[in-house]
Amino acid sequence: MTTRAFAAQSATSPLAPMTIQRRDPLPTDVEIDILYCGVCHSDLHFARNEWGMTEFPIVPGHEILGRVTRVGSEVTRFKVGDLAAVGCLVDSCRTCSSCGRGLEQFCTNGATFTYGAPDKISGGMTHGGYSERIVCAEAFTLKVPSNLDPARAAPLLCAGITTYSPLRKWGATRGKKVGIVGLGGLGHMGVKFAHALGAHTVLFTTSEGKVADGRRLGADEVVISKNADAMAAHAGSFDLIIDTVSADHDLNAYLALLKLDAALVLVGVPPSPQPVHAFSLLMPRRTLAGSLIGGIAETQEMLDFCGNNGIVCDIELIRMQQINEAYERMLKSDVKYRFVIDMASLKG
Ligand code: NAP
Ligand code: ZN
Ligand code: ZN
Repeated sequence: MTTRAFAAQSATSPLAPMTIQRRDPLPTDVEIDILYCGVCHSDLHFARNEWGMTEFPIVPGHEILGRVTRVGSEVTRFKVGDLAAVGCLVDSCRTCSSCGRGLEQFCTNGATFTYGAPDKISGGMTHGGYSERIVCAEAFTLKVPSNLDPARAAPLLCAGITTYSPLRKWGATRGKKVGIVGLGGLGHMGVKFAHALGAHTVLFTTSEGKVADGRRLGADEVVISKNADAMAAHAGSFDLIIDTVSADHDLNAYLALLKLDAALVLVGVPPSPQPVHAFSLLMPRRTLAGSLIGGIAETQEMLDFCGNNGIVCDIELIRMQQINEAYERMLKSDVKYRFVIDMASLKG
């Protein structure tokens, strides 16, 4: 099926219109007319080949929410007209030990990511949500709680699950002191989730202008990370810190804030390696860890948690044609707190 999309043709060219092909739905597939697609910083890293793994052209977008337009004959959980969502994964082997544990993102045979990954069904590379429709296996298609505003729910599919998953795994609960570093797309959801899970939530930001928003979003305390005295006041006191920063920064400054056996979990991907001093980890014994999105079952759990608790993202709705400008603003930390593309602008 011929499908309108926006793509980058090279690491230095702006995103521009392009036509792609989508497969006709297989018996186990769901076809979705995309209403909204969130703009993740990973889209920008990929479009500009900042991780050195992009094959061009690339159609980014993995925070996809829309309405079902066709279902294959074996599909049981979706019908035409339903809201449906697709996140960062569209397939995996479904048989390896990781898939068996619901950790499809770590599929040992190679998960199929929503964009920029080899498409094992149609050949070529997968194309993301900056497009008018997507066809996805039912098993990788998510249900969207009906009480959530669809545009504001779209970024849950990456920013939401990427912060929810480590908060759950490392036990952000009542009585725990949890830090979130960076108030961007991921960070603002991290603050909302840590607060909703009952943890004492502390936001670390470089932007003085975000202090009031941090509190409004659920932070009990906000620390300006450039202020060494303010940082030192929290030394050795955290049970968990989730770091969402997309740029180079000093990890040792955050490791110093952890208690014995507490963890700093990286979800942001700075462009270069970040030096860590051994003493930052061994006195007292601390953990430096990482986390990648979340599996399909946990993504559905997160969406249902949002439905039950009325949690959505704070967004700025843009037209598809504003995407290059949105990328520039994202680089200046000028997003409150996620751009979401209204896909009607692509179809109109
Ligand atoms: P974003 O909206 O651009 O937010 C990043 C935030 O980092 C900014 O808002 C800013 O917060 C802070 N920041 C930016 N430059 C900084 C600097 N030089 N020093 C310190 N802080 C700085 O990006 P995002 O979409 O949330 O994504 C964040 C990172 O996570 C990206 O690298 C992305 O690729 C990665 N990611 C990872 C996963 C995963 O599965 N692990 C999933 C999605 C995204 P303040 O203004 O508050 O300081
Ligand atoms: Zn993402
Ligand atoms: Zn697998």
